[in-house]
Amino acid sequence: MSETILSAEPAIRLSIFLGILAAMALWEVAAPRRRRDIPRVIRWTNNLGLVVLDTVILRLSFPIVAVGLAVMAEDKGWGLLNNLGVPVWLAIMASMLLLDLAIYLQHVMFHAIPALWRLHRMHHADLDFDTTTGLRFHPVEILISMGIKLVVVAALGPPAIAVLLFEVLLNATALFNHANIDLPRPVDRILRLFVVTPDMHRVHHSVDPRETNSNYGFNLPWWDRLLGTYIAQPAKGHEGMAIGIEQFRTRRDLWLDWMLIQPLRGPASGHALDPRITMKEPTE
Ligand SMILES: [Zn+2]
Ligand SMILES: [Zn+2]
Repeated sequence: MSETILSAEPAIRLSIFLGILAAMALWEVAAPRRRRDIPRVIRWTNNLGLVVLDTVILRLSFPIVAVGLAVMAEDKGWGLLNNLGVPVWLAIMASMLLLDLAIYLQHVMFHAIPALWRLHRMHHADLDFDTTTGLRFHPVEILISMGIKLVVVAALGPPAIAVLLFEVLLNATALFNHANIDLPRPVDRILRLFVVTPDMHRVHHSVDPRETNSNYGFNLPWWDRLLGTYIAQPAKGHEGMAIGIEQFRTRRDLWLDWMLIQPLRGPASGHALDPRITMKEPTE
């Protein structure tokens, strides 16, 4: 079973990724939510180039990734769930829930610690919001995230299939909830009770720092609601809001080489604990 999961993993992940990317791209053409400000060719070339670079760097840096470690933990009896003797279905559900909570907390941390915000703000500096924005993460952020995920997997001891399902799901929902698609409002209202929708995550890409520092969830919308970081809609509306952060607003900033050096440029302003944000009263 574990052998099959490991050998099939790359093919499963790549085909689901390409299928959903293509579906979202077509949906964005058929029913866009916002007008594009930047020609797609600039953003897509650089955002997709970054994914390839991220993947290569990740594979070269880690001898083992999350699913592989989960298989090893099952073998050696590492981690909480491998020692509790709970039914498999329960272990799968609990693992997916806890991995999602871990990703949420990690995202909050990347907004709160200035040095980490320097890395993560590159995700926010995209000047349009579409499915490729969901892929735009600095390679160092990808490496730190994988390190954290490996620690969580070693401690939790989740079934390998749960880790694979979670990673495929996270990849799929990231493409979906960054898509520039116009979901009918009633559909969005119901859907966002269970999963983060594009309208919910777009608030997180608002240039207004109070909105940037909200809606941290990627899969499940519940953590934001439970932990008080939920903002339902952007103050200026989805068509009126500006996407991005205050720094890095030129087209040159969207190029891969400048994205990579962005963590070193300028101050780490705008992070969640920046006094200029926390002191500022809401304007409405
Ligand atoms: Zn963020
Ligand atoms: Zn995002």
